[in-house]
Amino acid sequence: MSWENNVRKVVPYVPGEQPKAEKMIKLNTNECPYPPSPKVMDALQNLSANCMRLYPDPAVTDLRQALADYYKVNVEQVFVGVGSDDVIANAFMTFFNSKKPILFPDITYSFYDVWAELFGIPYERIALTEDFRINPEDYKRENGGIIFPNPNAPTGVLEDLSMIEDILKSNPDVVVMVDEAYIDFGGASALALLEKYENLLVIQTFSKSRAMAGMRIGYAIGNEKLIGYLNDVKFSFNSYTMNQTSIAMGVACVKDDAYFKETVGKVIATRERVKKELKELGFSFPDAMSNFIFATHESIPAAELFEACKKENIFVRYFKKPRIDNYLRISIGTDEEMDTLLTFLKKYIAQKQ
Ligand SMILES: *Cc1c(COP(=O)(O)O)cnc(C)c1O
Repeated sequence: MSWENNVRKVVPYVPGEQPKAEKMIKLNTNECPYPPSPKVMDALQNLSANCMRLYPDPAVTDLRQALADYYKVNVEQVFVGVGSDDVIANAFMTFFNSKKPILFPDITYSFYDVWAELFGIPYERIALTEDFRINPEDYKRENGGIIFPNPNAPTGVLEDLSMIEDILKSNPDVVVMVDEAYIDFGGASALALLEKYENLLVIQTFSKSRAMAGMRIGYAIGNEKLIGYLNDVKFSFNSYTMNQTSIAMGVACVKDDAYFKETVGKVIATRERVKKELKELGFSFPDAMSNFIFATHESIPAAELFEACKKENIFVRYFKKPRIDNYLRISIGTDEEMDTLLTFLKKYIAQKQ
């Protein structure tokens, strides 16, 4: 007769550490190493006291309109939430209601199975190929919906649109979600397929390429009917999810496209240089099209390198999970930060040989 019998018990998602060390190099949660546009900071300065006193716009019209203009879609095709985690959680609740299992890769964003468990959605993990690719044939079976990131996390592997279209073609009766948290770092967005597939939901975020992880803004774009259903669920749960500060800063961010492209360009340039240097140090990795590299070393175990870096106040991510427990996920920082990491790795590896 304990009250605990009626408690919903879940195993929560474990986010990457947010350490508070003074002089640390933080390469563990794929944040942008550069600040957001100065125009975003201006928008913050220009906020009036009313944005505290009054409720924010529940429809988040300004930000949805800015995104609609940017991506050349109708405002009714845009849904906004408190980070893409909030958007995806709402989308799971809205679209994954079949008794058939939803499908996602065995190596992927580790929040998907947590939401599925939380909402009681049956799911199946589909093994990626040996070289961490999605085989679309594996997704041609009965299912209650499909989700995968592109590029995938934590592997950084980008699939092209023809693979995504193959999956969409074979699954007209379920919603297919493409989580594009990292698409701005060199991939082609599935937004291009929206006109052809009304069951496609594309999810993006301000947290990585737009340097605003702390403001918590994510969005989904799909056809109007799909987005309508998503809004119905959101308004049944919490009308005022987006705070006015995030909305105003988000609008300013979308409008400064030159700054956005410049920042993303810098991250890509650093990534390409770091790829070469990691190879020289004996690392290998699937070609990364994200703002991180998923690397394994030819002789030194990833767990050991992870601890060694941590002692130097260099934080990278390590997942003690099947198939990937000898890999480090290294976010791309500034050139200076990456040089510090590379210098340390070089020294550490040399002293082991
Ligand atoms: C970072 C990330 C998210 C969540 O980002 P938000 O900060 O909640 O917008 C979603 N999916 C993947 C694959 C991610 O890496």
